[in-house]
Amino acid sequence: MRVPVIAGNWKMYKTTEEAVSFLRAFLPLVADAKGVEIILAPPFTAISTVAELVRGSGVRVSSQNVHFAEEGAYTGEVSIRMLRDAGASHCIIGHSERRQYYAETDDSVNRKNRSVLAAGLTPIFCLGETLEQREAGNTFDVVETQLFGGLKDISAAEGPKVIVAYEPVWAIGTGKTATPEQAQDVHSFLRNRLKKLWGEASDSVRILYGGSVKPENIVSLMAKEDIDGALVGGACLAADSFAKIVKYK
Ligand code: PEP
Repeated sequence: MRVPVIAGNWKMYKTTEEAVSFLRAFLPLVADAKGVEIILAPPFTAISTVAELVRGSGVRVSSQNVHFAEEGAYTGEVSIRMLRDAGASHCIIGHSERRQYYAETDDSVNRKNRSVLAAGLTPIFCLGETLEQREAGNTFDVVETQLFGGLKDISAAEGPKVIVAYEPVWAIGTGKTATPEQAQDVHSFLRNRLKKLWGEASDSVRILYGGSVKPENIVSLMAKEDIDGALVGGACLAADSFAKIVKYK
């Protein structure tokens, strides 16, 4: 049984003060949510405040990025040890905005996935095709390359701890959601590829869908067999809409 995950990515939004007022509204709304893992990914500056305030609530905290090295002369970067110290248990890795604007590659994503796993944190590993790639009929090739590249040298013993997030780039922040059927097609393909990598252990891997998820479409997405949760951007910024997504059941 795969416990569903609903993760919210705040991107470059919310000061600490705004994070506090979000949590004051959000935590009571989800206090009775059952059978779902809730994760919030604030910007680095708000991680420790959010981690402090969610303590005891069951809500987990993620970063939106991390450096793969243990420490070093990497101006502007944040290490896994620093994230753990701030209270994060998860790291979003390979988000399409990082691939697009910060030249992240399958190789850097792989190094991050491996370092995060080795440190005992959970990667939320993102992949997905662009509109041009979909229209050219290359969706499956693209996501397979990203999947195998990002998970290279990760064993069946530790791999299933990874949370995979399928996020078609054309659906992120555009209001254009993949239909549940389009998403399910890619999710079942990814599960099948994971099986090739890790055998039966892949049955326990959670594969989230991300791309314009809202309270209005979460139910139909979650009804699909291989959709195990959602990575939410825009609709996680307001407490009431994110709480509705968390409590989709
Ligand atoms: C995201 O950035 O991961 C995302 C899915 O954004 P949105 O929900 O706004 O499309």
